[in-house]
Amino acid sequence: MLRTGGRPHVLIAGGGVAALEAMVALRRIGEERVDIELLSPDLDFFYRPLSVAEPFGVGEVLRFDLATLARGCGAKHSLGALVAVYPEERCVRTSRNATFGYDALVIAVGARPREAVRGALTFRGEADVGLFGALLGDLDDGHVRRVVFALPGGVTWPLPLYELALLTAGHLAREGNSAAELRIVTPEHAPLALLGGEASEAVTALLADRGIGVSTSTYPDEFEDGELKVVPGTPVPADVVVALPRLRGVPLAGVPRDEDFFVSTDSSGRVAGLDDVFAAGDITTFPVKQGGLAAQQADAVAEAIAAWAGAPVSPRPFDPVLRALLLGDSPLYLRTELGGGRGDTSTAGDEALWWPPAKIAARYLGPYLAEHAGLAYGPAAGSAHSSRRP
Ligand SMILES: Cc1cc2nc3c(=O)[nH]c(=O)nc-3n(C[C@H](O)[C@H](O)[C@H](O)COP(=O)(O)OP(=O)(O)OC[C@H]3O[C@@H](n4cnc5c(N)ncnc54)[C@H](O)[C@@H]3O)c2cc1C
Repeated sequence: MLRTGGRPHVLIAGGGVAALEAMVALRRIGEERVDIELLSPDLDFFYRPLSVAEPFGVGEVLRFDLATLARGCGAKHSLGALVAVYPEERCVRTSRNATFGYDALVIAVGARPREAVRGALTFRGEADVGLFGALLGDLDDGHVRRVVFALPGGVTWPLPLYELALLTAGHLAREGNSAAELRIVTPEHAPLALLGGEASEAVTALLADRGIGVSTSTYPDEFEDGELKVVPGTPVPADVVVALPRLRGVPLAGVPRDEDFFVSTDSSGRVAGLDDVFAAGDITTFPVKQGGLAAQQADAVAEAIAAWAGAPVSPRPFDPVLRALLLGDSPLYLRTELGGGRGDTSTAGDEALWWPPAKIAARYLGPYLAEHAGLAYGPAAGSAHSSRRP
């Protein structure tokens, strides 16, 4: 039963990859059967993957005006941060006490980064580009010689750490700096093991070729007095440690969640125990936090909602396929199917393995950004152009 007369009102909380993919997919699949409203605290969508390239001057974090993206899709953008869901009343409340009604709700509010290795430079994205740039300056001046890149245990997305290490190695080579030493410390049993055998072997070879040391099956703990304490093993000497953060969900009243505030869903993205409430992206309990996977979850949600609204579509469950574009001197495309029972589907190559060959492989959002918002896709981050707020 619809809360209002007219068309079902789909409220999407978030303004990131999952929210935008859900918006575009729902409009494409559901056509004009639904009203769509985006609710987010930001005016802009940030295309974060290129933040790793920014300190090296070969790419920049792209921004898109959310209201424009929404308008182009026949949707509305409203400002507000979701804090509570009232399933009985079919409405939500924002941090400023405004209420928004829904017939279907999509929670796509992402995750929050937390420092995981005390004493390290935690690289969260655009906010830490300046600090990383200063580290490059210190390497160039010879004030810093040994840099360790540390992947913490727990929930995170490892690729940016490898990109920072490879881009730093390229920078050192261009500067003729042969004194510096780079090492990756990771709990993985092999570099980017999640991406399967062929991909991991390709990355391992690349790291060896660039002279980057690797300590696998090793958890970084904390950095103090020139030593990175690790488990198991003896401390690793370092002048600077760069670490990725660990991710945590967002507390939302009225929404069941685990101890880290992540939200559990079924394979169509339905939140357990709540009618007509869906979730997609980093906020969910799915253990791999990646933009491409967030988009695939959003597609499953969009199909389920479109079918419910009467669109002639048979909703398909989320069947995760990992597509990762590793930046370095030259891009490396990596792909694997995470669903079990298919053997090792891992592939690696310097030719694009998906189209458009973007850092975030999103079926509907990728082409939408390329067509409507001026994002040009090229083989390397340096060929991407940012859009301007209208
Ligand atoms: C440095 C870096 C590099 C990365 N590289 C890649 C890559 O190469 N490829 C890839 O696929 N992925 C990459 N990722 C991961 C990818 O960015 C995330 O997995 C992806 O953005 C998750 O999408 P999301 O929509 O769930 O969350 P987000 O993109 O984080 O979006 C969350 C949105 O929700 C909004 N929001 C927050 N709180 C609220 C609230 N209370 N109410 C309403 N809205 C709210 C935020 O403003 C934001 O718009 C990278 C991440 C980082 C940090």
